[in-house]
Amino acid sequence: MTELSVRDIAYCKNVGAKRADIFRRELHIETALDLLRHYPYRYTDRSRMYMIRDIRDEETAVQIRGRLLEWHTIGVGKGQRLSAQFSDGEHVVELVWFRGINYLKLDKNREYLLFGKPSRFNHEWNFVHPELTPIEKVTKQMTEGFEPEYPTTERMKQSGLNSKGVRTIIAGLIPDLKKGVQDTLGGDVRERYHLMNLTDALLNVHFPANSRLMQAARERLKFEELFYIQLNLLRQQKRRDQNPGYPMPKVGRLFNTFYREYLPFTLTEAQKRVIREIHADMQSGRQMNRLLQGDVGSGKTLVALMCALLAADNGYQTCIMAPTEILAQQHYETLRHLLRGNNSEEEEGTLWDNGKQSLMRIALLTGSTTKRQREELHRRLRAGEIDLLIGTHALLEDEVQFANLGLCIVDEQHRFGVAQRAKLWNKNVRAPHVLVMTATPIPRTLAMTLYGDLRVSIIDELPPGRKPVHTLHYSILRRQSINRFIREQVDLGRQVYVVYPLIKENEKLDLRDLENGYNELIDTFPDYRISMVHGQMRAADKEVQMQRFQRGETQILVATTVIEVGVNVPNASVMIIENAERFGLSQLHQLRGRVGRGAEQSYCILLTKTEISAETRKRMEIMVATNDGFKIAETDLQLRGPGDLDGTLQSGQAFELHIANLSTDGQILERARQAAEEVLETDPLLESEWNRLYKRQLDVLRASGKGPVNWGEIS
Ligand code: ADP
Ligand code: MG
Repeated sequence: MTELSVRDIAYCKNVGAKRADIFRRELHIETALDLLRHYPYRYTDRSRMYMIRDIRDEETAVQIRGRLLEWHTIGVGKGQRLSAQFSDGEHVVELVWFRGINYLKLDKNREYLLFGKPSRFNHEWNFVHPELTPIEKVTKQMTEGFEPEYPTTERMKQSGLNSKGVRTIIAGLIPDLKKGVQDTLGGDVRERYHLMNLTDALLNVHFPANSRLMQAARERLKFEELFYIQLNLLRQQKRRDQNPGYPMPKVGRLFNTFYREYLPFTLTEAQKRVIREIHADMQSGRQMNRLLQGDVGSGKTLVALMCALLAADNGYQTCIMAPTEILAQQHYETLRHLLRGNNSEEEEGTLWDNGKQSLMRIALLTGSTTKRQREELHRRLRAGEIDLLIGTHALLEDEVQFANLGLCIVDEQHRFGVAQRAKLWNKNVRAPHVLVMTATPIPRTLAMTLYGDLRVSIIDELPPGRKPVHTLHYSILRRQSINRFIREQVDLGRQVYVVYPLIKENEKLDLRDLENGYNELIDTFPDYRISMVHGQMRAADKEVQMQRFQRGETQILVATTVIEVGVNVPNASVMIIENAERFGLSQLHQLRGRVGRGAEQSYCILLTKTEISAETRKRMEIMVATNDGFKIAETDLQLRGPGDLDGTLQSGQAFELHIANLSTDGQILERARQAAEEVLETDPLLESEWNRLYKRQLDVLRASGKGPVNWGEIS
């Protein structure tokens, strides 16, 4: 065994204090072993020798034997560069250097091996900052097998730590690595899952002798990475299983009355099943942590309400937190309506029900609740005079205190950060039960990684009688016929959404797009009433506009994505998405979910520029082809990779994968999770002697800041 894990990176060959500092700051690399854990992102096959005429594209790095014909520097100072002519005896290419010109030692009489990525300039191939090695110094290892390429940063490059620099330093560690490093997976796990040991994996991930060994090495390292994420999540889950939770065994008057007398339709089988699953958790005596997944329109709001009724039957308060004011407002209206059943309207002007006509006392708290209303509301909450509080981030403030909060429901969770959630969790002596609802179908691999410590309930059935939304993709050249279609639909009594993207960096321009669109619609349809809603409006104005549309007073709603989540207007049957190329797939799917909520046939029209990229075309095609949110989410993951999924990873669920890839390594993930389950089976908290290895490695990962963050740590 070697001491690579404790050898300061500064003391490795070719490093020194300055580069060590850069390694530390740029990549958090402290030790020799950390550097060995800095994996190549790809490899170049160096067994092939090229002629200049063989160069085809800019993607593939190539190596060519040849000589330098001549060179000269151009410009002075910062803009200076050195240009050289390199010939393979048949053709000539230009080599260019912008940096480190003084250190270059070029020799006309020598034969060189040129290695680098070609780029095209003025119809000619050239090489910027290629590697030039005198032919007699070319080692066998260099032109054989695969050459690793390493991710680097601008800062690193300035100190010679480009891919080649990193490679040289790692190569210097190989003799010590060969003496062996402590494995991070037990022999039994490696055997059962046919995994390479860590020493061989590290040797072969950096300098693989052949592609089979490279694959085996990468698989082992991916497995390990995913295994520790799963081990951490599952251990948290099991630890929390031992946490006490508020017991809510009773199915009482409120739930039963609602079910028998208020419920306006029959629950779908899927709704019944998830309510049973949730109730089982709520009465278990342990804290619930559950994710409720269901496609848009699957009826999650009703499930949330029925859970709140169960909590109230057991003497606990519930809060529902929504990501936007519009959505909180709408939840409040919907739930108030449901809770009133056939009872008449009670007096307007208060933000809570008086409890006489409504089955539960329900209140709304948002950023636009006035100070006076707020104070009264705080008082009632503390006095236990409110059973169900709905709100936005405003719920999180410290003054918002409950008499006995027992259930937190977080809608469209991915918009909330970790710290914000922690605040909500802390509003009672024990952590309340937590139900996270999401309408963004998440591919299984991502769900397992993001929510691996939550139990999952899925509503996989839509309420009966829904007609699938018909989706069409058009270029803006067809605007006239689309306007005719809008007229047709409105004349049939339907309502229409027209949505524009609003993306932060571009806010001003986007807003102009939206306002232009709005004005054009007014010109085209002078006889219609049109609402407009966007993020820059005052909350009160937004609400007025939304309500007009909701009540059917306006026929068209022009909006930004503020309407993306949750808005429910069953009479709206047309969704027109402008600049659809600028939306991600899951966003498009969310938007489409705003229609198809009534009995009428609904339409979603995706409008794009005439010229679109191949990727955009794929996105439009999958939208047209299917309404299945899970299929769309899978495609999204494949097209864009997990880092980009709408908001999913932006919420402080900070895990970063170094080698595994959630869109392609699903199989490895399944096996890694199974292995983690097996390790924890008889030793859920990793307390035994034989699992010390795993406990220690989890601690190491956490201490390094590279380990997974998860729900467990915030509850
Ligand atoms: P989600 O939040 O899952 O996107 P909602 O809770 O907004 O969906 O429900 C969508 C629509 O379906 C609402 O109008 C709701 O009243 C209706 N709905 C919910 N459950 C049922 C059911 N079992 N039968 C008929 N309609 C239902
Ligand atoms: Mg909803």
